[in-house]
Amino acid sequence: MALQNQVALVTGASRGIGRAIALELGRQGATVVGTATTQEGAETISRYLKETEIKGSGMTLNVNDAAGIESILKAVHDEFGDIAILVNNAGITRDNFLIRMKDEEWDDILETDLKSVFRLSRGVLRPMMKARYGRIINISSVVGSIGNMGQANYAAAKAGIFGFSKSLAREVGSRNITVNCVAPGFIETDMTRSLTSQQQQNLIQHVPVGRLGRPEEVASVVAFIASPAAGYITGATLHVNGGMHMD
Ligand code: NAD
Repeated sequence: MALQNQVALVTGASRGIGRAIALELGRQGATVVGTATTQEGAETISRYLKETEIKGSGMTLNVNDAAGIESILKAVHDEFGDIAILVNNAGITRDNFLIRMKDEEWDDILETDLKSVFRLSRGVLRPMMKARYGRIINISSVVGSIGNMGQANYAAAKAGIFGFSKSLAREVGSRNITVNCVAPGFIETDMTRSLTSQQQQNLIQHVPVGRLGRPEEVASVVAFIASPAAGYITGATLHVNGGMHMD
């Protein structure tokens, strides 16, 4: 139980990769607060945590709401204690070719996928610095490394996460706080469900492992990087992409 007595906050945990991360951190002993945008989503999280006998709960949060971030951090602190592990997982796509991309499509992605990472990380830093311990894990994407047609907004946000994480890792390393990225390739979740089977086949041709990834395969890497055993890894990106992109 590598994460016993540690409180973890996982954004966007009602489904997909976030759900798998919340469950894996919980299995390893963490108390888990998973966030969802709706009350129904928060209840789903509370239910699956209860069913798997993981301590914690679901809470609502729109990661674009600065006041909401402040109040959830206070609520987690009051109910469970200081956050030792923050997983910035919430993310969206709004694809369009750049020639047609609207300002809102750019701004929405930068706000949800990048600015939220800044705000939440800033929000947990003081208690982590006081505790002289912390793990911040930011879910980026292979698209942040290699780009993708129709995803200039998403690629910019996900690449921004790399630079953000490296800078913060330098700022807080001396306090025993690590900041790392996990960059999934194409994973079977709602985000990729809209791909046609032809699109999936085209993608898989570029994946040496020969298939899409599973949320659990991302979660196990997050759990490792969240553990005390990973204390000498910071500013790094762990690629979980079946070999689609090799650094
Ligand atoms: P998903 O669509 O299944 O889940 C995204 C989660 O983010 C949902 O729980 C959603 O409610 C939450 N979310 C969206 N907007 C939010 C907001 N404003 N405030 C709070 N929560 C919000 O997608 P997923 O595939 O599980 O993606 C999880 C993360 O992994 C994302 O950051 C995504 O960019 C990244 N990722 C996914 C893939 C993939 O192939 N699925 C690949 C690389 C990276």
